[in-house]
Amino acid sequence: VTLIESESLEKRYGGGTLALADLTVSIEPGIVGLVGANGAGKSTLIKLALGLIAPTAGRIRVLGLDPLTEVERVRSQVGYMPEHDCLPPDMTAAEFVTHMGRMSGLPAATARERASETLRHVGLYEERYRAIGGYSTGMKQRVKLAQALVHDPELLLLDEPTNGLDPEGRQAMLGLVQRIGTEFGISVVVCSHLLGEIERICTSLVAIEGGRLLRSDSLSAMTQHK
Ligand code: ADP
Ligand code: ADP
Repeated sequence: VTLIESESLEKRYGGGTLALADLTVSIEPGIVGLVGANGAGKSTLIKLALGLIAPTAGRIRVLGLDPLTEVERVRSQVGYMPEHDCLPPDMTAAEFVTHMGRMSGLPAATARERASETLRHVGLYEERYRAIGGYSTGMKQRVKLAQALVHDPELLLLDEPTNGLDPEGRQAMLGLVQRIGTEFGISVVVCSHLLGEIERICTSLVAIEGGRLLRSDSLSAMTQHK
Protein backbone atom coordinates (compact mmCIF):
# COMPACT_ATOMS: atom_id res chain seq x y z
CA VAL A 1 0.00 0.00 0.00
CA THR A 2 1.18 3.52 -0.77
CA LEU A 3 2.27 5.37 2.38
CA ILE A 4 1.17 8.83 1.37
CA GLU A 5 -0.58 9.70 -1.87
CA SER A 6 -1.66 13.18 -2.82
CA GLU A 7 -3.33 14.71 -5.83
CA SER A 8 -3.17 18.43 -6.59
CA LEU A 9 -2.85 18.98 -2.86
CA GLU A 10 -2.92 22.59 -1.70
CA LYS A 11 -2.64 24.12 1.75
CA ARG A 12 -3.04 27.81 2.27
CA TYR A 13 -2.86 28.97 5.88
CA GLY A 14 -5.13 31.60 7.40
CA GLY A 15 -2.59 34.36 7.02
CA GLY A 16 -2.35 33.66 3.27
CA THR A 17 0.85 31.59 3.16
CA LEU A 18 0.70 28.99 0.42
CA ALA A 19 2.53 26.12 2.16
CA LEU A 20 1.74 23.45 -0.43
CA ALA A 21 0.84 24.21 -4.03
CA ASP A 22 -0.58 21.58 -6.37
CA LEU A 23 1.43 18.74 -4.86
CA THR A 24 0.96 15.36 -6.51
CA VAL A 25 3.13 12.71 -4.95
CA SER A 26 3.13 8.99 -4.24
CA ILE A 27 5.35 7.78 -1.42
CA GLU A 28 6.06 4.04 -1.50
CA PRO A 29 7.01 1.80 1.47
CA GLY A 30 10.51 1.92 2.92
CA ILE A 31 12.49 4.39 4.94
CA VAL A 32 11.69 7.54 3.03
CA GLY A 33 13.45 10.85 3.51
CA LEU A 34 11.18 13.87 3.02
CA VAL A 35 13.71 16.59 2.43
CA GLY A 36 13.58 20.31 1.77
CA ALA A 37 14.69 23.60 3.27
CA ASN A 38 12.97 25.07 6.32
CA GLY A 39 9.56 26.34 5.21
CA ALA A 40 9.40 23.98 2.20
CA GLY A 41 6.15 22.45 3.44
CA LYS A 42 7.33 19.16 5.01
CA SER A 43 5.50 19.55 8.33
CA THR A 44 2.40 20.73 6.51
CA LEU A 45 2.36 17.56 4.39
CA ILE A 46 2.78 15.40 7.50
CA LYS A 47 0.01 17.25 9.37
CA LEU A 48 -2.31 16.88 6.37
CA ALA A 49 -1.54 13.14 6.27
CA LEU A 50 -2.45 12.88 9.96
CA GLY A 51 -5.65 14.88 9.57
CA LEU A 52 -4.40 17.51 12.03
CA ILE A 53 -5.14 20.14 9.40
CA ALA A 54 -7.37 20.11 6.32
CA PRO A 55 -6.31 20.79 2.73
CA THR A 56 -7.62 23.89 0.99
CA ALA A 57 -7.73 21.95 -2.31
CA GLY A 58 -6.91 18.50 -3.66
CA ARG A 59 -6.82 15.21 -1.81
CA ILE A 60 -4.51 13.15 0.36
CA ARG A 61 -4.52 9.53 1.54
CA VAL A 62 -2.35 7.85 4.14
CA LEU A 63 -2.11 4.04 3.89
CA GLY A 64 -5.08 4.37 1.55
CA LEU A 65 -7.13 6.08 4.28
CA ASP A 66 -8.81 9.47 4.28
CA PRO A 67 -7.26 11.25 7.27
CA LEU A 68 -10.28 13.48 7.80
CA THR A 69 -12.96 10.76 7.88
CA GLU A 70 -11.09 7.60 8.93
CA VAL A 71 -9.66 9.18 12.04
CA GLU A 72 -9.57 6.12 14.33
CA ARG A 73 -7.92 3.90 11.75
CA VAL A 74 -5.32 6.52 10.96
CA ARG A 75 -4.61 6.95 14.68
CA SER A 76 -4.14 3.20 15.16
CA GLN A 77 -2.04 2.58 12.03
CA VAL A 78 0.18 5.66 11.99
CA GLY A 79 2.69 6.87 14.59
CA TYR A 80 3.75 10.52 14.75
CA MET A 81 6.77 12.18 16.30
CA PRO A 82 6.18 15.95 16.15
CA GLU A 83 9.02 18.37 15.67
CA HIS A 84 8.51 20.32 18.86
CA ASP A 85 8.40 19.30 22.48
CA CYS A 86 5.09 17.64 23.30
CA LEU A 87 6.17 16.14 26.62
CA PRO A 88 4.57 16.72 30.03
CA PRO A 89 7.52 17.35 32.41
CA ASP A 90 5.73 15.99 35.49
CA MET A 91 4.85 12.61 34.04
CA THR A 92 7.23 9.66 33.99
CA ALA A 93 8.15 8.24 30.58
CA ALA A 94 6.26 5.05 31.45
CA GLU A 95 3.09 7.01 32.29
CA PHE A 96 3.26 9.22 29.24
CA VAL A 97 3.98 6.47 26.72
CA THR A 98 1.23 4.32 28.26
CA HIS A 99 -1.15 7.27 27.98
CA MET A 100 -0.25 7.76 24.32
CA GLY A 101 -0.83 4.05 23.71
CA ARG A 102 -4.32 4.43 25.21
CA MET A 103 -4.93 7.45 22.92
CA SER A 104 -4.02 5.28 19.93
CA GLY A 105 -6.61 2.69 20.90
CA LEU A 106 -4.72 0.13 23.02
CA PRO A 107 -6.43 -1.45 26.07
CA ALA A 108 -4.88 -0.33 29.40
CA ALA A 109 -2.90 -3.50 30.17
CA THR A 110 -1.56 -3.73 26.62
CA ALA A 111 -0.60 -0.07 26.66
CA ARG A 112 1.41 -0.55 29.87
CA GLU A 113 3.17 -3.60 28.50
CA ARG A 114 3.91 -1.99 25.15
CA ALA A 115 5.16 1.19 26.87
CA SER A 116 7.82 -0.78 28.77
CA GLU A 117 8.77 -2.71 25.66
CA THR A 118 8.99 0.43 23.51
CA LEU A 119 11.00 2.31 26.12
CA ARG A 120 13.40 -0.62 26.17
CA HIS A 121 13.79 -0.40 22.38
CA VAL A 122 14.81 3.25 22.62
CA GLY A 123 17.18 2.61 25.53
CA LEU A 124 15.14 4.20 28.32
CA TYR A 125 13.99 1.12 30.22
CA GLU A 126 16.07 1.84 33.32
CA GLU A 127 14.92 5.46 33.48
CA ARG A 128 11.26 4.86 32.69
CA TYR A 129 9.95 5.73 36.17
CA ARG A 130 11.67 9.12 36.30
CA ALA A 131 9.86 12.39 35.51
CA ILE A 132 10.48 13.50 31.93
CA GLY A 133 11.31 17.04 33.11
CA GLY A 134 14.65 15.74 34.41
CA TYR A 135 15.64 14.10 31.13
CA SER A 136 18.34 15.32 28.76
CA THR A 137 17.36 16.51 25.29
CA GLY A 138 18.49 13.22 23.79
CA MET A 139 16.36 11.25 26.24
CA LYS A 140 13.36 13.47 25.51
CA GLN A 141 13.73 12.85 21.79
CA ARG A 142 13.73 9.12 22.51
CA VAL A 143 10.54 9.42 24.59
CA LYS A 144 8.97 11.22 21.62
CA LEU A 145 10.03 8.33 19.40
CA ALA A 146 8.70 5.76 21.89
CA GLN A 147 5.25 7.38 22.08
CA ALA A 148 5.06 7.26 18.27
CA LEU A 149 5.87 3.53 18.29
CA VAL A 150 3.89 2.30 21.29
CA HIS A 151 0.85 1.07 19.36
CA ASP A 152 2.95 -0.81 16.81
CA PRO A 153 1.95 1.32 13.81
CA GLU A 154 2.45 0.36 10.17
CA LEU A 155 3.83 3.79 9.38
CA LEU A 156 5.95 6.18 11.41
CA LEU A 157 5.99 9.89 10.54
CA LEU A 158 9.02 11.60 12.08
CA ASP A 159 9.34 15.37 11.89
CA GLU A 160 13.00 16.41 12.21
CA PRO A 161 13.84 13.73 14.80
CA THR A 162 17.46 14.91 15.21
CA ASN A 163 16.47 18.50 16.07
CA GLY A 164 18.31 19.92 19.05
CA LEU A 165 20.71 16.98 19.39
CA ASP A 166 24.50 17.11 19.33
CA PRO A 167 26.33 15.24 16.53
CA GLU A 168 26.58 12.05 18.57
CA GLY A 169 22.91 12.18 19.54
CA ARG A 170 21.94 12.80 15.91
CA GLN A 171 23.80 9.70 14.74
CA ALA A 172 22.30 7.63 17.56
CA MET A 173 18.77 8.79 16.72
CA LEU A 174 19.23 7.99 13.02
CA GLY A 175 20.64 4.56 13.88
CA LEU A 176 17.60 3.92 16.04
CA VAL A 177 15.23 4.99 13.26
CA GLN A 178 17.01 2.73 10.80
CA ARG A 179 16.85 -0.21 13.19
CA ILE A 180 13.15 0.30 13.81
CA GLY A 181 12.48 0.43 10.09
CA THR A 182 14.45 -2.66 9.20
CA GLU A 183 13.99 -4.89 12.27
CA PHE A 184 10.31 -4.18 12.87
CA GLY A 185 9.46 -3.88 9.18
CA ILE A 186 7.76 -0.53 9.73
CA SER A 187 7.72 2.07 6.99
CA VAL A 188 9.11 5.44 8.03
CA VAL A 189 8.77 8.90 6.53
CA VAL A 190 11.44 11.09 8.06
CA CYS A 191 11.43 14.86 7.48
CA SER A 192 14.73 16.68 7.44
CA HIS A 193 16.26 19.85 6.07
CA LEU A 194 19.62 18.03 6.08
CA LEU A 195 19.72 15.75 3.04
CA GLY A 196 23.34 14.82 3.70
CA GLU A 197 22.51 13.67 7.19
CA ILE A 198 19.55 11.41 6.51
CA GLU A 199 20.20 10.00 3.03
CA ARG A 200 22.37 7.18 4.37
CA ILE A 201 19.47 5.60 6.27
CA CYS A 202 16.87 6.15 3.52
CA THR A 203 15.72 3.71 0.87
CA SER A 204 14.24 6.59 -1.12
CA LEU A 205 13.98 10.37 -1.03
CA VAL A 206 11.22 12.84 -1.81
CA ALA A 207 12.24 16.46 -2.07
CA ILE A 208 9.96 19.46 -1.88
CA GLU A 209 10.73 23.13 -2.37
CA GLY A 210 8.35 26.02 -1.89
CA GLY A 211 5.43 23.62 -1.46
CA ARG A 212 6.09 21.85 -4.74
CA LEU A 213 7.65 18.52 -5.62
CA LEU A 214 11.20 18.80 -6.95
CA ARG A 215 11.75 16.81 -10.10
CA SER A 216 13.79 13.66 -9.52
CA ASP A 217 16.63 14.94 -11.70
CA SER A 218 16.92 18.00 -9.50
CA LEU A 219 16.98 15.63 -6.58
CA SER A 220 20.02 13.79 -7.93
CA ALA A 221 21.60 17.18 -8.61
CA MET A 222 20.88 18.09 -5.00
CA THR A 223 22.50 14.86 -3.82
CA GLN A 224 25.64 15.58 -5.82
CA HIS A 225 25.95 19.12 -4.53
CA LYS A 226 25.20 18.49 -0.87
P1 ADP B 1 8.83 22.79 6.83
O1 ADP B 1 8.27 21.71 7.70
O2 ADP B 1 9.35 22.27 5.53
O3 ADP B 1 9.83 23.64 7.54
P2 ADP B 1 6.21 23.98 7.11
O4 ADP B 1 5.22 23.02 6.54
O5 ADP B 1 6.35 24.04 8.59
O6 ADP B 1 7.62 23.75 6.41
O7 ADP B 1 5.86 25.45 6.63
C1 ADP B 1 5.56 25.74 5.26
C2 ADP B 1 5.18 27.22 5.18
O8 ADP B 1 3.93 27.41 5.86
C3 ADP B 1 6.16 28.14 5.87
O9 ADP B 1 6.18 29.34 5.13
C4 ADP B 1 5.55 28.36 7.25
O10 ADP B 1 5.95 29.56 7.83
C5 ADP B 1 4.08 28.35 6.93
N1 ADP B 1 3.25 27.87 8.07
C6 ADP B 1 3.38 26.71 8.75
N2 ADP B 1 2.42 26.59 9.69
C7 ADP B 1 1.68 27.72 9.62
C8 ADP B 1 0.54 28.22 10.32
N3 ADP B 1 -0.04 27.52 11.30
N4 ADP B 1 0.05 29.40 9.95
C9 ADP B 1 0.60 30.11 8.96
N5 ADP B 1 1.68 29.72 8.25
C10 ADP B 1 2.22 28.53 8.57
P1 ADP C 1 4.82 22.18 14.84
O1 ADP C 1 5.34 21.49 13.60
O2 ADP C 1 5.19 21.48 16.11
O3 ADP C 1 3.37 22.53 14.79
P2 ADP C 1 5.82 24.63 13.76
O4 ADP C 1 7.23 25.05 13.75
O5 ADP C 1 5.21 24.19 12.46
O6 ADP C 1 5.58 23.55 14.90
O7 ADP C 1 4.99 25.85 14.32
C1 ADP C 1 4.69 26.05 15.68
C2 ADP C 1 3.31 26.65 15.70
O8 ADP C 1 3.27 27.90 14.99
C3 ADP C 1 2.29 25.76 15.03
O9 ADP C 1 1.02 25.92 15.62
C4 ADP C 1 2.29 26.25 13.60
O10 ADP C 1 1.09 25.89 12.96
C5 ADP C 1 2.46 27.76 13.83
N1 ADP C 1 3.19 28.43 12.71
C6 ADP C 1 4.29 28.01 12.07
N2 ADP C 1 4.67 28.88 11.13
C7 ADP C 1 3.78 29.90 11.19
C8 ADP C 1 3.62 31.11 10.46
N3 ADP C 1 4.43 31.49 9.48
N4 ADP C 1 2.59 31.91 10.80
C9 ADP C 1 1.75 31.57 11.77
N5 ADP C 1 1.84 30.43 12.49
C10 ADP C 1 2.84 29.61 12.20
